[in-house]
Order: sequence, then structure tokens, then C-alpha cells
Amino acid sequence: MKYAIIIPDGCADEPQEAFGGKTPLQAAETPAMDAVAAAGVVGRANHVPDHLPAGSAVANMSLLGYDPVANFTGRAPLEAAAQGIELAADDWAIRCNLVTIENQEMRDFTADHISTDEARQLLGDLQDVVEDEAFQYVPGVSYRNLLLYRGAGRPSPFSNDTRTAPPHDLTDSPVLDDYPRGPGSDLLIQHMNASVKVFADHPVNAARIAAGKLPATNVWLWGQGRSPALAPFAEVYDKRGMMITAVDLLRGIAALLGWERIEVPGATGYTDTDYAAKGRYAVDALPKTDIICVHVEATDEASHEGDAEAKIQALAEIDRHIVAPLHEALKSQGDYRILITPDHPTPLRTKTHSHGAVPLTIAGSDVTADEFTSYDEVTAGASSLSFPEGWKLMRYFLGLS
Ligand SMILES: [Zn+2]
Repeated sequence: MKYAIIIPDGCADEPQEAFGGKTPLQAAETPAMDAVAAAGVVGRANHVPDHLPAGSAVANMSLLGYDPVANFTGRAPLEAAAQGIELAADDWAIRCNLVTIENQEMRDFTADHISTDEARQLLGDLQDVVEDEAFQYVPGVSYRNLLLYRGAGRPSPFSNDTRTAPPHDLTDSPVLDDYPRGPGSDLLIQHMNASVKVFADHPVNAARIAAGKLPATNVWLWGQGRSPALAPFAEVYDKRGMMITAVDLLRGIAALLGWERIEVPGATGYTDTDYAAKGRYAVDALPKTDIICVHVEATDEASHEGDAEAKIQALAEIDRHIVAPLHEALKSQGDYRILITPDHPTPLRTKTHSHGAVPLTIAGSDVTADEFTSYDEVTAGASSLSFPEGWKLMRYFLGLS
């Protein structure tokens, strides 16, 4: 049996006035997704327990079959795993965004999608003014970077009571009330303040402003945590998996599960990603694995920007270039199952991740079709197939229940 999972990140949404009351999934041109729904079942799952942060870290851990209540320690440790960074028991990983803050408001949590090279230069110069050697900036991709705290036997300045705010939740909002709080927050705020001084007259920013781009004014620190101890997927579910994604968070979860990661040229984690290349690489991977998982960030990014047209465009591209060819390839090779589901809703209205159920559809061998023939939030809401504890979906999908 071969399995495919397609994750259009944050695609679940609300009815849109712009689409005559339809949700983006209803409004988008998605014949291949609807074909999966017609051939199989439609339902819903909730991947974010109420007390955990609504976002891709918790939600994708759950989507891939791990109870986030028992296993989630923070977002940054997952991203550290993606980069092959090992965390000792007293180490902490902290997510470090390069952001644009103007008049104490979060203008852009991506610093206008700053380039990886520019990020490296800024963080390199910021590292030079850090006095405590336990703190190390680690450049990642674009605005997504890390700060590590290497404990080396010292008492930890942070705890589970340390509170930080995801910058994508602050878009166009005042930030003064959302600086870190609790144990160790003074250290985090020192780093954030140091960045303002280092970045203010930095040549990278001067060049960006001259080119009409937003400058990176600050680092924003959040998502801190120690390393989680996830049991290998092959031990828990007796299947091998491979992950295609452009996002470090998903690479990290895959790494911790023991899944191979496939890097696809042209995959950007944004709406300009090469959808067709992701589809081709997924089809090519099928003979080599039990499960191929394709994660696409573009839908989530479109929501963060409040861009409804970009969101339905991304859904149509995912449908045409990933779902359609992958479903065809699965059908032609024998027994299979296919699952389409986002991790969490990202409503265009709020431009941020939310708690709540997401629609899912499953088709393939031994899946008896229900009465639903389209894949969207409304049909999912009418279905009796529901996973309030979303992590239990994996067992059902794999036919292990
Ligand atoms: Zn997400």
C-alpha cells in the first residue's frame, strides 16, 4: 500500500464576501480535490488543542500522528532539528524573525521577505555585540532564523512559563504589550533591543530602502523550547515516510520522525513556489517510500497577507500540479490511499492561524465513498467523520485502527 498526504497549509477558512459567500476551498478551481472527495470520504479534524498555540508546529505534529499535548515543546526546537542542530537537555532553541517594526507597530513579520544573504549579514553583525557566549544566532532561510541558548550545565534562565508572541499574530498591531514575559524575558528583550541599534544604519538596510524595500528593523524572538523526544514514526506506525516541504518547521518534524526529506528546486515556501516540480518529485518518490507527504506553504502565506485571490490561485495550482498527478500515479501502481488536509485554519479575515477543525478528504483502497462530492469546509462540517483529537487521524488513514 502506498500513501500520499497533501497539506495545503492554513487553507481552511471562512465564507468570503468577495466570493459570494463561498470559502476559498469552495471558490477555487479544484477538480482533483473534489474527485478525491467524490471517490472517498470527507470529514474534519482538530489538530490544535485549545491550550496550545494555534500554528503549524502543533498542528503538523498532530496531523502526522503525534499527540501534541504529550510531545510539543515549542516551535524553534523543530526548526533546529531541520537544520541538523542537536539540542542537549539544557539547551533552548528560540525562533528569531527578522521583522519590520514602524512606530511600535508590526509592519511586516518577514521584513519584506528579506533574502537569506541579507539575513546572514545582519545576524552576523548582531552576533558580534552579544557578550554571553551561550547565545548563538543561526541563520536559516529568509526571515526565519534561530537563536540558540547552549546551557552547558548552567541553570536555565527560561522555563515553561516564559511567554513570547508569534510576530505573524501582530501584523499591523502595536507590539509594546507583546514583548517576552516571564523567566529569562529580560535576556530576550536585551537581544531584541540590541538588534535595533545594530540594524538602524546597517548597509543592508540602506540598500533595501534605496531599492524601495522595507528594512529589517528588529529581531523578534519567540517559539522557544527544549528538544522534544518523538518516537520514530517507523516504530509507532510501522511505515516509512518522506517529506517534501520548503519550510524548516516541517523539515524538522520530519527529521525527528525519522522521515527522509526531499529538497525540490524551486520550492520557495511562498506563492511563487514551483508547484509542478513538487508534484513531479512526489510522484518520483512513490516507489521509494510507504508515505509521501507534500506540504505547501503558499496558501498560508496568502492568508497572512489577506490576499483572497492569491489563496484560491494557490489552491488551484496545488490541485492541478500536485493532487492530480499524484492521485493518477497512485491509482496506476496498485493499492493506495490519499489524504488532503491542511494543518489549521488561517482565515483571510484575521490574517493569522486559528484553532478549530479543518476539512479533510481520504480516498483509495478499502475506502467506501460517502455522499459528499466536494472538498470544502461546508461539506466537512456536515459529515459525521470527525477527529476532535486530530492526531488519531493518522491511524485511521493508514488503516491501522
Ligand atoms: Zn500551518
